[in-house]
Amino acid sequence: MLVAVPEPEDMLRDASLRVTRPRVAALDAVRTHPHADTDTLTRAVRTKLGGVSTQAVYDVLAALTAAGLVRRIEPAGSPARYDARVGDNHHHIVCRGCGTIADVDCVVGARPCLQAADDHGFVIDEAEVTFWGTCRDCRSDRISGDTATARSESDS
Ligand SMILES: [Zn+2]
Ligand SMILES: [Zn+2]
Repeated sequence: MLVAVPEPEDMLRDASLRVTRPRVAALDAVRTHPHADTDTLTRAVRTKLGGVSTQAVYDVLAALTAAGLVRRIEPAGSPARYDARVGDNHHHIVCRGCGTIADVDCVVGARPCLQAADDHGFVIDEAEVTFWGTCRDCRSDRISGDTATARSESDS
């Protein structure tokens, strides 16, 4: 999808959030580090702004999530991650070995999985699907582990 990417400042204004440097930096960090956890995002924000407390970054991420500018995902057994791709109901595939997360678009058309067989009277706005598996790197680890050799550094 080739859509013009809006500036963080404009996204904040459109969401009626005050434009602050930590918010701009956090939004930018989520966009440049897809599916990153809070530690990674805190480091990225600090690189830009210097001394920002972990709590401040948590608070900013919570505000961005509440405003729908980022999506918080929590694969079982993994710390919360943040995703800049919002509103498209895409899914995630998670590696059981290393925790790497990749985006998976809906397989058939638009939001097919929002059609619950019985919605129990709810208005459904999201269906969360997580695929679990083993990524290519972890699979090759396993193969080389079988023969007790170190992982080849040349396989990329
Ligand atoms: Zn892996
Ligand atoms: Zn994603």
